[in-house]
Amino acid sequence: MPRARVGIYGGTFDPPHRGHLLAATKAKAQLGLDVVLFVVAADPWQKRGTRPLSPAEVRMEMVEALIASHEGLEASGMEIARGGPSYSVDTARRLCEEARAAGEDLELYLIVGADLAGQLETWHEPEELAALVTVAIVERDGEPEVPLHPRWRSVKVTGGTIDASSTMLRSALAEGLAVDALTDPGVIRIVEAHDLYHWAR
Ligand code: ATP
Ligand code: MG
Repeated sequence: MPRARVGIYGGTFDPPHRGHLLAATKAKAQLGLDVVLFVVAADPWQKRGTRPLSPAEVRMEMVEALIASHEGLEASGMEIARGGPSYSVDTARRLCEEARAAGEDLELYLIVGADLAGQLETWHEPEELAALVTVAIVERDGEPEVPLHPRWRSVKVTGGTIDASSTMLRSALAEGLAVDALTDPGVIRIVEAHDLYHWAR
C-alpha cells in the first residue's frame, strides 16, 4: 500500500513571507514529508473582525508565487472551495477520505508556529483533530515553548527562524518600505497590483 507523509500548513497568508517558506521547508526536511500543503484559510474565524482581509483568491495567488520554485510545496485551495469557516479538522478529514479512496496509507502532520501551539485546545473539535494528525511545532522568534494537552501527539521542528510576520509586512508595505528581505518579489508584485495594504499605515 503506497504511503504518504503529508504536512498541512494552514494560514491566512496575508501576505505569505520567507518565515512561512523556511518553516515549511524545515518541516519537510526534518520530518521526511513528501509534500507540504499550504492550505489557504477561506474564513479564518479566529481573526474575524480584527482587520480587513485580502480576498482568498489573491492570498492563494501570493502563496503560489512564494513557493513556485520549491519542489514538494503546494498551495491548496481546498478550504476556499469548501467555503464557510476554515477548520483544520475538516481539512484533515477530507485528506484522509481521499487517501482511503485512493488506497493510500496517509500520515498527516499539522504544521503550526510556536505562537499557535498553546491555542490548539480552542480549535474546532480538538479531540477529533488530535486523533488524525501529529502536530509539528515550528520554533518562532520570541515565542516560548508551551506544554500541550496530553491528547496531542507532537514533534518539534528546530533550527533558526526568520523574524517575519504578515503583520510586520503589511505595515512595512503600507509605508512603502523595501521588503525584499522578507518575501518573494512575485508576492510584492501581486500586493502592488491589488493595492492590498494601504489601510495598514
Ligand atoms: P499575522 O501576523 O497576520 O498573524 P503570520 O505571519 O502569523 O500573520 P499566519 O498566516 O497567521 O502568518 O500564519 C500561518 C502559520 O505560519 C502559523 O502556524 C504561524 O504560526 C506560522 N508562522 C508565521 N510566521 C512564522 C515564522 N516567522 N516562523 C515560523 N512560523 C511562522
Ligand atoms: Mg499569525
